[in-house]
Amino acid sequence: MEYISTRGAASPLNFEQVTLAGLAGDGGLYVPESWPSFSADEIAAMAGLSYVETAVRVMQPFVGDALDEAELRDICEQAYGRFSHAAVTPLVQLDGRQWLLELFHGPTLAFKDVALQLLGLLFEKFLARQDKHLTVVGATSGDTGSAAIDALAGRDKVDIFMIHPDGRISDVQRRQMTTVLAPNVYNIAIDGSFDDAQAMVKRMFADQEVTNRFSISAVNSINWARLMAQVVYYFYAASQLGAPHRKIAFSVPTGNFGDVFAGYVASKMGLPIERLIVATNVNDILHRALSVGDYSTGTVTPTAAPSMDIQVSSNFERLLFDLEGRDGVKTAARMAAFEQSHNMQLEAAMREKAASIFTSHRVGPDDMSLAMRWAQDLAGHVIDPHSAIGLSAAQNVDLDPSVPVVTLATAHPAKFPDAVERATGIRPALPRRVGDLFDREEKYTRLPGTYDAVKQFVMSNATPTDG
Ligand SMILES: *Cc1c(COP(=O)(O)O)cnc(C)c1O
Repeated sequence: MEYISTRGAASPLNFEQVTLAGLAGDGGLYVPESWPSFSADEIAAMAGLSYVETAVRVMQPFVGDALDEAELRDICEQAYGRFSHAAVTPLVQLDGRQWLLELFHGPTLAFKDVALQLLGLLFEKFLARQDKHLTVVGATSGDTGSAAIDALAGRDKVDIFMIHPDGRISDVQRRQMTTVLAPNVYNIAIDGSFDDAQAMVKRMFADQEVTNRFSISAVNSINWARLMAQVVYYFYAASQLGAPHRKIAFSVPTGNFGDVFAGYVASKMGLPIERLIVATNVNDILHRALSVGDYSTGTVTPTAAPSMDIQVSSNFERLLFDLEGRDGVKTAARMAAFEQSHNMQLEAAMREKAASIFTSHRVGPDDMSLAMRWAQDLAGHVIDPHSAIGLSAAQNVDLDPSVPVVTLATAHPAKFPDAVERATGIRPALPRRVGDLFDREEKYTRLPGTYDAVKQFVMSNATPTDG
């Protein structure tokens, strides 16, 4: 399998290269040159498989010959063996029609562990084959950072620099990152928003002073291997609910468009998905884009669901590329214009194409609280604010009532105890396995919100490519 850039100019890469690369040299994102697909019989044969076996089947076409089946299985067993639930991502029924897919049983209590535990192991495997040192630079609105740090702390031949917006993530989220004291982990708190942090990371990838000395890589959801790992649980959940014989809808609390894009990939691979509901909070660029074609940035409003508090959704470019008929030249022109004007209008034809699978819904703070209370009072489940946005959207969009709707539960409620307590009166306890988080020592560096300050810090602490 070869991977091509959405902007058409970077050279194609194989799976090993694309895993270590992150952003393409032309500023685009890598996607498979074509979508692999499964027949209905192959999907039917996934019924009853364990998470690990499902993962091996779904990911093998993307991995190609970079790993043989036994190596891929071994990595999946290690990655998913760290989850605290035997089903890895258990499916929970809320009522006759609504389901939750709990993606938060990994080490840092958010769905990002599903992809990053795997990515950490892939990095280790591929770096051992090449005599190379890797510098991971990432921006986080909370959950990516902790999941990436957990996956990479103490690993050979890799440093990780994780930038978060100072004061805009929860205490649990911050402590999950800053209490990891491994010497290859650097936490940076900037005076600015998540979008500022993300813009710095993008700029660093294009900065030759940095890239000439260091091999910079990404763990944000622009990394292809991460998206690939997320495709698995769409197959896993749908198989349990009767796919391919029954269509399923998914409601996905969305920020950077990574998780819901993985659902789109699953549908491209042949999984019969009735609808993908793109649930946003009041930071609703994706809802505006999909409902009226207005992809223009505003300012970020901090909410109780901070992992969705963004205005630019990096992975949306991957969908635009498909909607443009996979034309890299057109996508590059479109993105260049957007980067200039911060505004993009989608033509009716593109919007209609997107509407054949996506429905969007914007959920305000009252509906979010209502969904948390409904889950608790009527279904006996305490859910986090992000999952509540997904659930609220699932309950409020127009759908054939015979279709089951699976809301992706993206974080453990204990990750956001204040918001959960405000809505429901219940303060969720941290699971025992993360126990003494509030007693551990923290280590992080505060920097001004300027690119130069962050670049200086990275360049003086990172290890050059050749070690
Ligand atoms: C990252 C995250 C999201 C958003 O996922 P995207 O892939 O960025 O759309 C939603 N909920 C939680 C808890 C997250 O950590």
